[in-house]
Amino acid sequence: MSHTTPPQRRQTLPVTVGSMTIGGGAPVVVQSMTNTDTADIAATVQQIADLARAGSELVRLTVNHESAAQAVPAIREALDAQGCHVPLVGDFHFNGHRLLTDYPECALALAKYRINPGNVGKGEKKDSQFATMIELACRYDRPVRIGVNWGSLDQEIVARMMDANARLAQPQDSGQIMYEAMVESAISSAERAEQLGLARDHIILSCKMSGVQDLIRVYRLLAARGNYALHLGLTEAGMGSKGIVASTAALAVLLQEGIGDTIRVSLTPEPGESRTREVVVAQEILQSMGLRSFAPMVTACPGCGRTTSDTFQHLAKDIQTYLREQMPVWRTQYPGIETMQVAVMGCVVNGPGESKHANIGISLPGSGERPAAPVYIDGEKVATLKGEGIAEQFKRMVDDYIAA
Ligand code: SF4
Repeated sequence: MSHTTPPQRRQTLPVTVGSMTIGGGAPVVVQSMTNTDTADIAATVQQIADLARAGSELVRLTVNHESAAQAVPAIREALDAQGCHVPLVGDFHFNGHRLLTDYPECALALAKYRINPGNVGKGEKKDSQFATMIELACRYDRPVRIGVNWGSLDQEIVARMMDANARLAQPQDSGQIMYEAMVESAISSAERAEQLGLARDHIILSCKMSGVQDLIRVYRLLAARGNYALHLGLTEAGMGSKGIVASTAALAVLLQEGIGDTIRVSLTPEPGESRTREVVVAQEILQSMGLRSFAPMVTACPGCGRTTSDTFQHLAKDIQTYLREQMPVWRTQYPGIETMQVAVMGCVVNGPGESKHANIGISLPGSGERPAAPVYIDGEKVATLKGEGIAEQFKRMVDDYIAA
């Protein structure tokens, strides 16, 4: 159980995205993105519903060609029909100006547009195509995320800044110039959008990079340049534990400094792995840092030579899974349940102490200990479980505690 207060958030302007607020002190929003072909309406609806059920509060989908733009209103309608009202964000690139112009129903079905200033066109076309998208955002009263990405950074800005740097008596290192070019791309695009009539409280910025130290440095620079709401994420974080660790390392440092109003954890799913994993990881980052609570947390010891069997590991996993699966219903039935703490410990060394700090905790018998498992509720020992069915008995006690 944490005894410290969460980090202070940086002051940003609140941006309304459908039913959600990003920035302005609102809780940090968890978002994710589909990987289905948007034109495949059934598959996309299914994945968005899964992501929303897992806790994604915004879902982005690519709108990359005409059939995708045509599909978006049907996707919105099908989700609404099943009671899923998660706001949808359209990810637009080279042809976004045309798709938003030609498919107004798509533009209206989306709650936010993501525009990558490095991918809206080249030269004069770039300016006019960017302007078209911003004008449409103004017409439909939709916010925009100006999302700069390391892999598609506007090379004209990089060249200009490199030239200027080379003329300095003491040039900065090229890495610093790249960070500043990322930030310059985001800020100059935001200022252009404001000149075109889009209010600052309709603009969210991001500057995604794939290196942990790079991301930290670029977001510190970005945060110092104004009060725009910021979308935080390590791009191309990778697969499995590498992606989770890299995302957590980068996001935790920035969130601790109060930087970040919405986060996305960009995990590459392993074959057969659910897309919803990235939502759970994002929630766990925020909950571990004390910034938000999504589901009761299970504290479990790692186990060691004192554990006599893997019973406690199974019990910890079962309880964690069970609690998370019940949350869509329990969240409305039992307000505040997401802050509950459950402890599942492997022996008496730390078991009783940790259990007393949880709302409900169990200390399973370790090697050489009496075959009995004391259970603590709100710091008091209330029962000692024995025999084969300890796990089931404890689960029933957790249910009873929640229902009480
Ligand atoms: Fe080992 Fe007991 Fe500590 Fe768990 S609580 S790690 S079983 S000593």
